[in-house]
Amino acid sequence: METSEDPMRIEAEIKLDYKDVLLRPKRSSLKSRAEIELNRKFTFCHSDKTWEGIPIIAANMDHTGTFRIATELAKNGMMGAISKFHDVESWKKFHNKHPEVINNCFVSAGLVENDFNTLNAVMKDIPCPFICLDVANGYTESFVEYVSRVREAFPDHIIMAGNVVTGEMTEQLILSGADIVKVGIGPGSVCTTRHKTGIGYPQLSAVIECADAAHGLHGHVCADGGCTKPGDVAKAFAAGADFVMLGGMLAGHDESEGEIVEKDGKKFKEFYGMSSRDAMHKHKGTVADYRASEGKTVLVPYRGPLQTTVQEILGGVRSTCTYVGAVNLKALPKCATFIRVTSQANEIFT
Ligand code: 5GP
Repeated sequence: METSEDPMRIEAEIKLDYKDVLLRPKRSSLKSRAEIELNRKFTFCHSDKTWEGIPIIAANMDHTGTFRIATELAKNGMMGAISKFHDVESWKKFHNKHPEVINNCFVSAGLVENDFNTLNAVMKDIPCPFICLDVANGYTESFVEYVSRVREAFPDHIIMAGNVVTGEMTEQLILSGADIVKVGIGPGSVCTTRHKTGIGYPQLSAVIECADAAHGLHGHVCADGGCTKPGDVAKAFAAGADFVMLGGMLAGHDESEGEIVEKDGKKFKEFYGMSSRDAMHKHKGTVADYRASEGKTVLVPYRGPLQTTVQEILGGVRSTCTYVGAVNLKALPKCATFIRVTSQANEIFT
């Protein structure tokens, strides 16, 4: 029976976003940021495969989850999660030309049966080591069962699964077969989940808590969404993320999907969320009447070649490591101390 003394269910501890913190600089013996090694070598808790490279992944969205972006990022040892709308024929065509890129790619799949069929078909022919099981809400029993089913079907592959934002569900997904848990509900640049549903978790705290839970089981986490600048990528790694996934930061370039649009003499490229009205119209023909779109469409200022942004990101993270005395990316979380702040930067001339 409800009584007036029932406590409100409010967690009083403040949860933080990237914008709420900065990293404290520390005395260090590092001479130059050129010394900093961003490559990481991973072994995984289920898969017996190992992987080495820079663990930054292009999001499996229409504009960034493409072979073209993956190829460009692979030049730097980075990764691409190819969107689930690429069929086995397009994988085969790509693989014949770029076997070296495939090792840094994820094959993506959602929860519907057709995705599982495509995943099976692609995995039969393409030696891609990574699978990305991606749903908006990683908290359902059916998703947990699906992760187990995919683990059974692909015992040797590296499976990333998500999205979740809390430790207990991170543990559940790892125990069900995920090697990497994808963390983030609502932080994305074109996401409207928090507006539409009121659900979410500040991303820095989500990454810290999920990384702690995952690492306790020898699993890994991927911080997905919410990075708006190189400093945010550095904060995600410093918070314990093993991988960082980027959508908006990689949109708007020559290599990103979408036509250039001119408006008031300025160039832009379109970018939309995968649960947006535009994405649903493109892939399903309509927005089903029982659901609201949880993404939006934006025009991103055109930014030229992707390599310019990649250099800024990698240069930024190297510099972060130098400031806190981390000899390599792996050492960054151990060397990092976050300070809570009330403002980030001087915005007078923006
Ligand atoms: P960004 O780097 O742009 O901040 O975030 C990218 C991430 O946003 C993606 O990897 C994915 O997890 C998430 N995302 C992409 N499209 C949508 C959408 O339409 N709705 C929601 N809620 N999240 C999205």
